[in-house]
Amino acid sequence: MFTYDVAVVGGGLAGLTAANFLAREGKKVVVLEKSKRLGGRAMTNEKNGVLMNFGPHGLYMSGDAANILTELGLSLPGGNATKGVHIHGILNDEVHVIPRDFPSIMSSPLLSWKAKFILGKLMGKIMRLTIYSIPEVSLKEWVDSEISDPMVRRLFYSICRLTSYTNAPTLQLAKPVLKQVKRSLHAGVLYVDGGWDTIVQSFKKQAEALGAKIVSNKNVINIEHHEQYQIIQCSDGTVIHVPNCIIAAPPKEAMNMLNGAEYTSLRLWKEQAIPVTACCLDLGIRKLPNPKHQFAIGLDQALFFTNQSRAAKLSEDGTLVVSIAKYHDPMEEINVNTDKKQLESVMDLLHPGWQKEVVVQQFLPKLTVSHDFPHTKRIENPGPSIPEMKGIYIAGDWAGHEEVLADAAVASGKRAALEILHVKETVLAKEG
Ligand SMILES: Cc1cc2nc3c(=O)[nH]c(=O)nc-3n(C[C@H](O)[C@H](O)[C@H](O)COP(=O)(O)OP(=O)(O)OC[C@H]3O[C@@H](n4cnc5c(N)ncnc54)[C@H](O)[C@@H]3O)c2cc1C
Repeated sequence: MFTYDVAVVGGGLAGLTAANFLAREGKKVVVLEKSKRLGGRAMTNEKNGVLMNFGPHGLYMSGDAANILTELGLSLPGGNATKGVHIHGILNDEVHVIPRDFPSIMSSPLLSWKAKFILGKLMGKIMRLTIYSIPEVSLKEWVDSEISDPMVRRLFYSICRLTSYTNAPTLQLAKPVLKQVKRSLHAGVLYVDGGWDTIVQSFKKQAEALGAKIVSNKNVINIEHHEQYQIIQCSDGTVIHVPNCIIAAPPKEAMNMLNGAEYTSLRLWKEQAIPVTACCLDLGIRKLPNPKHQFAIGLDQALFFTNQSRAAKLSEDGTLVVSIAKYHDPMEEINVNTDKKQLESVMDLLHPGWQKEVVVQQFLPKLTVSHDFPHTKRIENPGPSIPEMKGIYIAGDWAGHEEVLADAAVASGKRAALEILHVKETVLAKEG
């Protein structure tokens, strides 16, 4: 009776993941994406042969997204972001090497003898940490109770910002952040050849090979819920009747398109969401004026610099792709001009004369990195189903449970698909 079993609204990582899981179980799926290109925030822009993600993008190698890609049989080309390079820290407008192992902790001029001991103990503790045993406290509460030295705290907060892309220690729950830190210490981060469009295209190709239909330029403007079916309306007049619909669009768009959403849990999930934003400057650059500075984090500023070309192929002619990003504090006002100047002055510090080497650039003043994250004000985890509307599901980085960022997007896409397939996932306490 229906042409499709499931309509997925949104062709970002969450929607494409859901389409893959459904199509491989023989469900007839259509993905409706409003833009002309797929991928959402995982798109890669090509400028004069130089490939740039939206800001620096790294995939956690033992994270949910990487594990789910492997489960789907998809492997990605690229390299480890931090292998074999010094990580530098910026403090008081000076650049220092960040100690990462026992010998460098011992020789670091950044740390007092007491701080060296505390950092060594902390690293050991994190590597052995049983994530499920961490209490439901904020990151700040955890840090206050575990780290007494101010310099070690600074260092640890910068690592937390780096791995969670979030600058909100009083709001962030400690558990998901510590899980990210542990993962990055254990397995590292992958920079993907060709940018994140390689991930998007892998998902697309596989979903289509399994029979899913993926349509761009389809702006869904209304979803009408009925007990046995859903009516999806697009701005070009297309109307689709389906038994199940996964909304894999951001929370505001989800609320706007779903008729009667204000009387459902979706309203609470949207209201409790705290978006994370960042300001990014991506550069295609002929060479780095100071090749020693490949990767740097701010110790007294919430920012991060990386040369992504060190690990991934992002141009044909050898142009390097580097990015510098500032993590916004969700509680503070944003000033685009100040942010841009701050990023440029850190580039001056790390790479004097960098402007002469720039071939192409993109400045993204305020990007939503994630539409929500696990925080202390969250009342309940969103999705996968909207309990008041049988047949309607949600996915996206704001629908993560303990996952964050792309891991949340991909894991929630899988969760929504499995719920439709009536498959209950066995959660193995791997982290423990
Ligand atoms: C600067 C920056 C850096 C990041 N770095 C990292 C990183 O290093 N590691 C990491 O894991 N994650 C990172 N992320 C996060 C990651 O990119 C996102 O979490 C992920 O791409 C979100 O996927 P999604 O499918 O949830 O949402 P989106 O990508 O937003 O996809 C939603 C899709 O829905 C479509 N849509 C919306 N409304 C409609 C409609 N009415 N009809 C049809 N379609 C619609 C949109 O066009 C979009 O394509 C970063 C993000 C940013 C911005």
